[in-house]
Parts: sequence; C-alpha cells; structure tokens
Amino acid sequence: MTRAPDRPSELIEGIRAGDRRSLARAITLAESTRADHRDLADEILEAVLPATGGATRVGISGPPGVGKSTFIEAFGIHVIEEGHRLAVLAVDPSSRRSGGSILGDKTRMTELSHRPEAFIRPSPGGGHLGGVARRTREAMLLCEAAGFDVVLVETIGVGQSEVAVADMVDLFALLVAPGGGDELQGIKRGIMELADLVIVNKADGDLAAAAGRTRADYASAVHLLRPKWRGWATEVLAVSALAGAGIDEVWAAIERFCAALGADGELVEARAAQATAWLWSEVGDTLLDRFREDPGVAEALPAVEAEVAAGRLAPTRAARRLLDVFSRPR
Ligand code: GDP
Repeated sequence: MTRAPDRPSELIEGIRAGDRRSLARAITLAESTRADHRDLADEILEAVLPATGGATRVGISGPPGVGKSTFIEAFGIHVIEEGHRLAVLAVDPSSRRSGGSILGDKTRMTELSHRPEAFIRPSPGGGHLGGVARRTREAMLLCEAAGFDVVLVETIGVGQSEVAVADMVDLFALLVAPGGGDELQGIKRGIMELADLVIVNKADGDLAAAAGRTRADYASAVHLLRPKWRGWATEVLAVSALAGAGIDEVWAAIERFCAALGADGELVEARAAQATAWLWSEVGDTLLDRFREDPGVAEALPAVEAEVAAGRLAPTRAARRLLDVFSRPR
C-alpha cells in the first residue's frame, strides 16, 4: 500500500484538533524503527509537548483471566459518561504484531472501541520491554495532546512490565480475583508495593463472599507495606466488572487520589522524577542502538561473543574491549 508522504505540520494540527487518524498515524511513526519515521515522530512530539501532561494516567495490571478487558470496558464507559475522553494503551513485550496483540485488542472491548470518546491502541509489537515502554510513553503523550484526559495503560501480570507501567503513570491499580487465601495469589511483594489501588474483581454471585474475604486479606496486607506516598494509603475495593458494580467507586478513588496528590503536590514531583528517569533510559537505549550499529563493533562482536561463550574471555573484559572499539575515533 502506498500512502501520501507524512507532513508533520498536518499531523500536528490534526492531533491538536483531536483527529484520531492523525493520532494513530503519529503513534505508528513513533513505533517505527525507521530513522526517518523516528525523526518525524520526534518533531511531532516536540511540537505537541506543551499540550501534554493534562491527563490522569492510570496503570492497570493483573494476571490473565482476572477480568482486565471486562473491567476496562466497564470502567471506560463509566469514565466517558462522566464526561471524559479515554485512551487505552498496553505494554506487553510478548505480543507480536503479526500474531495480533492480546492486549488492547479491539475485539476485547467491543462497546468501548465503538465510542468516539475512546481510543484503543494495542501494545507495540515485539521487542524488549524497554523499547515497548518507550513507545507507550510516547503514545501516551500523543493521546494527551489529542485531548484524551484519562489514559489507561494496561499490562499483564508477568515479568517486569508492571514496573515499567508504574513508572509512567500517576496511579497504579492491581486487579485480583477472589480466593487464593493468605498467599494472596502469589502476587509478588514488589508488585504489591507498586499498587495504589487493589481491585478485587468478580465480587458477584458465588464469588461474592470469597471476594469479601480477599478484600479483607489485601486490606491487611497493604497495611504492612512501605508507604509509597505521604498523602495516600493504598485502598482495596471490590467490584464486579461483569455486572458493572463498584466501578463508580474505582473512579471516585482515582479522583480522590488526584485531589490528594495532584496540582502542586506529590504527583508533580513524581512526574518530574519519571521524566528524568525516561531521559536516562532514552540515553541508555540510544547508546545501545548506536553501539549495535557501529561497524567496528559489528565486526568484532562475533569473535568476542564466541570467546565469552567458550569461557576464554571474561565478560567484563570483553565488554570493555567492545566499548574501546566503539569509542575509538574514526
Ligand atoms: P483478562 O484476561 O484479564 O482480560 O480477562 P477477561 O476480561 O477476558 O475475563 C476473563 C473471564 O472472566 C471472562 O470469562 C469474563 O467473562 C470473566 N469475568 C470478568 N469480569 C468478571 C466479573 O466481574 N464477574 C465474573 N463472574 N466474571 C467475570
């Protein structure tokens, strides 16, 4: 398929006017690995940056089957009915474009995906977590510039992706299922410490009583954790995403969170720290890209790797040797 060349000025104007096609195209450019696309994306991002930062950024995680897409559908509709515009993004390093992303897949949120006030974008395909997270951060800023004032970033409850998501949002919510007893469903302490909100889903029918117990278990568990904020203690809520019960309470909690920490409070500090951390990970990623593209490094790499794999060369020494090649003036 051929397409007209991208004019950044048109895309910028489109994004500012809330045009979803321009937004989608700009995100595609930001996700591209082509240097000319990245340059365009950088130009667009820079131009729209003053229009970003106005959204409430919410991260949501939970193991597969806990009801994330059902919850996002119900939550999204509620938030839209409260008068907001919602963007749903995903961080899932395991997803592959070709195979269709599991996360953020439009078929999962049928009603929401048909609402003009919602914008749903699957996880950028493949790659390492750092790259996926970086592109999701950019997509988030582009969505904000396009007037989406609530951005939801979803991730599945495995690996380090929760940490990456918690590092780009204001509030991090953990979705859990009833049951699991005192082991709290094997959710790692580190992940629990990230949660500003624990949402026990499926509090309906036969599961209602178990959901109540699970809620109490989590409430005492979060009590023991190191507090993340001065002005907010992690709350535990029970909802039924399927029945739409308790969804309003989740949104109310998010609003209370923003009121307690927002405007000129802790959230400002947190966002500044996030931006600085992003800068450094950007420096790291870019350096690594340049390192891998360096012809001298590329030439020396196979032999050095083989030596390291065979145990004949210490990895530290090998790394220094490659870095010397990289920084040698040409
Ligand atoms: P995801 O994998 O986390 O996105 O989970 P889904 O949203 O696809 O839901 C997994 C299953 O749990 C589906 O069969 C849903 O119908 C069911 N489910 C989701 N939310 C609820 C709920 O609130 N109550 C009950 N009983 N089932 C639910």
